[in-house]
Amino acid sequence: MRWDRDHQSEHVEDRRGQGGGGGGGGLFGLVFLLFRQFGVKGAIVGLLVVGGLALFGGSGVLGLSGSAPTPAGSAGINDAGKAFVGFVLDDAQKTWSQLYRERGKTYQPARLVLFAGRTDSGCGAGNAATGPFYCPRDQRVYIDLDFYQALKDKLGAPGDFAQAYVIAHEIGHHITNLEQNLGKGRDEGAAGGSVRVELQADCYAGVWAHSAKARDLLEMGDFEEAMRAAEAIGDDTLQQAGGGVVRPETFTHGTSSQRMRWFQKGFVAGKPEACATFDASEL
Ligand SMILES: [Zn+2]
Repeated sequence: MRWDRDHQSEHVEDRRGQGGGGGGGGLFGLVFLLFRQFGVKGAIVGLLVVGGLALFGGSGVLGLSGSAPTPAGSAGINDAGKAFVGFVLDDAQKTWSQLYRERGKTYQPARLVLFAGRTDSGCGAGNAATGPFYCPRDQRVYIDLDFYQALKDKLGAPGDFAQAYVIAHEIGHHITNLEQNLGKGRDEGAAGGSVRVELQADCYAGVWAHSAKARDLLEMGDFEEAMRAAEAIGDDTLQQAGGGVVRPETFTHGTSSQRMRWFQKGFVAGKPEACATFDASEL
């Protein structure tokens, strides 16, 4: 992907270095695959990968303990990871602003929080093991950049455009939220609301990718990188990878082939109207 390595986004909040670090780290990939297995009821809207750990609005299951001292100088550094997610965030939101404008509507931008280990959110504690998520209550995307290492090493989806897809997917949840459709996402199961919300976010990510391609931001292999990521985090694939049987009744995000299909649908159409997952008779 072509992007500006010096990019600074005014919508990124850097909370790395604000404590809460311990625990996550190397175990992360394994932990989140395991957690994924449990398929906790779809109380959470907007996790990219894990269906139910942060327990939005819950009783703080992960327990936000007090903050550790802030390591000097680690926050506020405009490193490559921060520049990258900020660039994708801004580019995706620019695209959505334009799409909204064309439809006579005004886009409300989301913010993105970079954290390390764990952080507080309007939806309860965010933890590295949850993977990236969007909180509708504070309209923020949360990501611990260690997830990208897991995406590459544990899930076999390397590449910058795989990483971009993750941000675009979360912004997709923001769009569904702005459209006041997130409430339809409560029930799990193969044709349930949760799966429809997630596939819509994949489709919206594809809509952004269409725009990025039109503006010549895509390089050879980028589309495939995003498709590989969509494939890697399908419910069926993750359940199999976790050593379990595939249980469609517990699906929250859709199968690998559905996730690829809806991303591609958005990518081909380039229009949010193509992403009507709630009305689709077949997903
Ligand atoms: Zn999601």
